[in-house]
Amino acid sequence: MTSGLDHARRIVVKIGSALLVEGQDGRIHRSWLNALADDIADLRRDGREVLIVTSGAIAIGRRLLGLTAGTMRLEESQAAAASGQIRLAHAYQEALGRHEIGVAQLLLTLDDTEDRRRYLNALNTLNTLLRMGAVPIVNENDTVATGEIRFGDNDRLAARVSMMASADALVLLSDIDGLYDRDPKTNNDVTMIHEVEAITPEIMAMGGKARAGDSSGGMETKLIAARIATQAGCNMAIADGRIDHPLRAMREGKPCTWFLARDNPTTARKRWIAGALKPSGSVTVDAGALTALGSGRSLLPAGVTSVEGSFDRGDAVVLNGPDGLEVGRGLVAYSCADARTIAGHKSGEIELLLGYRGREELIHRDDLVMA
Ligand code: GLU
Repeated sequence: MTSGLDHARRIVVKIGSALLVEGQDGRIHRSWLNALADDIADLRRDGREVLIVTSGAIAIGRRLLGLTAGTMRLEESQAAAASGQIRLAHAYQEALGRHEIGVAQLLLTLDDTEDRRRYLNALNTLNTLLRMGAVPIVNENDTVATGEIRFGDNDRLAARVSMMASADALVLLSDIDGLYDRDPKTNNDVTMIHEVEAITPEIMAMGGKARAGDSSGGMETKLIAARIATQAGCNMAIADGRIDHPLRAMREGKPCTWFLARDNPTTARKRWIAGALKPSGSVTVDAGALTALGSGRSLLPAGVTSVEGSFDRGDAVVLNGPDGLEVGRGLVAYSCADARTIAGHKSGEIELLLGYRGREELIHRDDLVMA
């Protein structure tokens, strides 16, 4: 099967609260987490990159603070998240540290993944961490959330992170082992669906609603996540997280549900750059740069002859050829003021000109789509 973990190079694993927390005192299920860390170490030994999106801050924190699920006001949930997040991050640090794998904490809001500038910043941080061999541990930044914090938000966050990181696979480790044609909690004669090619209304109807407590946001949020992930070119699995070594089990063929990507992630991301964005300015390049861009290179400041418009780092700009006609679009790594300063200069001079060491490229080839 082409959707399995074996073909994925960059994998996001999402872990639900109910899997992590045991008992009433906020203790983390250490042996389970250690087994998961072993699986992650195995994947990395095979050359894969792994990112974690984890819930659990509130479930842990509310126990530490003596708060009761279901009765918490928003500020109490936020206090619980603030308290639990430290213990949560530390638990991952310890579990992965057993394999000498470093971790790094990213607290994001869903807005961060929708605002292009913050999106690009978060993406750069993620890529840098992965390049340096660390495992990013992502949770929602619950303490700054202004709306109600819902269980299940992390399913969506995980899908957004997968999209942002151009992941090939997202695994939602859950307290259910897959999608069934009918709710297995209330029906006996049910069948697991192993592969979903399109998220049709019939598939959505298999979702049902969320249950109470610390447990998952139910199937509904997972199907929403599947829609986001698959549209972004990422295969997504709903798999059993209640067992030890859940990722190993998947690799050994334990049944789960895979939602198949609609496109490959790079194409999807490029389409997003090419189509969905309103450009805030333009950059004109010389003939040499145009040739380099045509052969798949990044745009360096040296090849830029002029910078027009008003934009910030992360905004979309139009690329014009020497004749002023549009040749492509991309996400720019510098603000318009900084871009004007470094235009025409070698990348080695950037630090001297701007007083800080930014990226070598004005537009990285991953952020560039030629017309
Ligand atoms: N961010 C929340 C937490 O860490 C969980 C949200 C979710 O489970 O979707 O407690």
